[in-house]
Amino acid sequence: MAELILNQVSKVFEQNRVVDQISLNIPQGSFVALLGPSGCGKTTTLRMLAGFETLSEGELRLGNQTLATAKTQLPPEDRNMGMVFQSYALWPHMTVAENVGYPLKHRRIPSGMYQKKIKDALETVEMMPYAQRYPQDLSGGQRQRVALARCLVTDPDVVLLDEPLANLDRHLRASMEESFRAFHQRTGATMIYVTHDQAEAMSLANQIAVMEKGRLVQWSSPEALYHQPKTQWVAEFIGQGSILMGKKAPENQTLTGEGVNALFHPTNERAQSAFLVRPQHVQIELINASLPQSAALTARVISQVYRGERYEIHLEMPNQQRLQAFHPMAVPIGATVSLNLTQAWSLAA
Ligand code: ATP
Repeated sequence: MAELILNQVSKVFEQNRVVDQISLNIPQGSFVALLGPSGCGKTTTLRMLAGFETLSEGELRLGNQTLATAKTQLPPEDRNMGMVFQSYALWPHMTVAENVGYPLKHRRIPSGMYQKKIKDALETVEMMPYAQRYPQDLSGGQRQRVALARCLVTDPDVVLLDEPLANLDRHLRASMEESFRAFHQRTGATMIYVTHDQAEAMSLANQIAVMEKGRLVQWSSPEALYHQPKTQWVAEFIGQGSILMGKKAPENQTLTGEGVNALFHPTNERAQSAFLVRPQHVQIELINASLPQSAALTARVISQVYRGERYEIHLEMPNQQRLQAFHPMAVPIGATVSLNLTQAWSLAA
């Protein structure tokens, strides 16, 4: 069982540090997402892992084997890694079976085993009935399954996936996510999945590396990323939520109960804390603004968005701070509501 280790890995293109000292220890069999906005260095990191890009600094290891340093490079074909691209990269003049068997050509495999490996790989991705078709006669999702099978056929230790679902529609993405999960469970391979889509990263990965401008800003489980973002940037990038300023509170702590409302009362204190408040933790109730207020916190409804199972209500508090709430019904724009905040996460300064 080999751990994949990135030790202070950097890539500099013409004095531009696009990957900046990334260190990660990835246990064998993990499903890891490299998540971040366009241009943050995800693909470059993946290409260094695959051996398509050299390292400027640092070291890559798979267990005791050194894959690359700034001076030495193991060629891609000696790394026992498979790669799946957004563009599928299938040979158009080869059938599905020939495409899947292609990586075996350079490995001396007995001919009986050759057919069996192709069949096993195609069965894993449920594409055996299409073995004799050509890629152009397949849908995008089917082509991506073939690309996965081609990866599987060599029994890789590590599978690298670069935005593999980017070209597919929403329904197909959901069903392909299922295929990736099944593939992962069946093979036990370490999967490294590059995406800018946080929902995709959360639903697939058991560990997420969030990158911002070439740096690793958080490395945690999807749950910890959602509930305990380390910085304001991560909080804004992951899921829905509002950043509110309130009274000084201990950093990186979940605050619950009635005390949360008290945090957001007008305060003259200079030292304030930033809080993340998720919309499911904001309860609202319509009140009559012309009557004396008993509610501790109030806000005005600015707009709302219908989301099928609920409404997303956009609110503004008297001190101009804005936040969102989920609510089962529509509420009139301009109405005043009382607020009850049930949970908030205090962010590090
Ligand atoms: P995207 O999701 O848009 O693919 P990314 O996070 O994968 O983004 P990279 O493709 O790794 O980002 O690119 C990171 C930065 O490195 C970008 O600013 C890009 O322009 C730059 N870059 C990538 N490859 C090269 C290259 N060969 N020469 C110079 N700059 C490069």
